[in-house]
Amino acid sequence: MLPLEQIAFDIDGVVADTMALFFKVAQKRFNINELSSDDITEYDLEKALQLSPDIVDAIVTEIVNLPTIMEMKPYKGAADILYEIGGKTMLHFITARSDDGPITLWLQNLLPDLSNEQINVCATGNYDGKLQYLNDLNIKYFVEDRLETCDLIIQSGIIPIVFEQPWNNRPHPYQSVTNWDELSLLIGLAP
Ligand SMILES: [Mg+2]
Repeated sequence: MLPLEQIAFDIDGVVADTMALFFKVAQKRFNINELSSDDITEYDLEKALQLSPDIVDAIVTEIVNLPTIMEMKPYKGAADILYEIGGKTMLHFITARSDDGPITLWLQNLLPDLSNEQINVCATGNYDGKLQYLNDLNIKYFVEDRLETCDLIIQSGIIPIVFEQPWNNRPHPYQSVTNWDELSLLIGLAP
């Protein structure tokens, strides 16, 4: 089993299906239809979807804040596996979001049987800032969907586990998983 206290998780695109909420709000508020995750072959949403920066900003601002954030769905199996890990050790989430408030509420709502003290959320405000938090927390394994972040952290000896998404579908040297069942196996939790 991987040492559970040395594993940390990204949130968007790993625990949370943030993109589905993006599409939902794009359709509801801006009448933008026919977007699908498969269109997003790179991490830059404006480029991938050919939307104007203003529209992307407006949608992102809505989905990262209350109340809309509470409509965000977790990936299948995520809550059960996080609950299992969180029963044994503190859960660490490292996100590039700049505000930890709404996403912490979302996680507490996802994992109601864990005490709030078991859920540690670090909001770095930028992608590269994740490295410092990972080092400070003595994290050895980080589950992440953005390959550029994986490329950064491996230089410090932190082992990336890639959560596969259309936007990270290019060759890379890292271990990857397609869902939380596979992640659970890789971590070595009992099936
Ligand atoms: Mg992510």
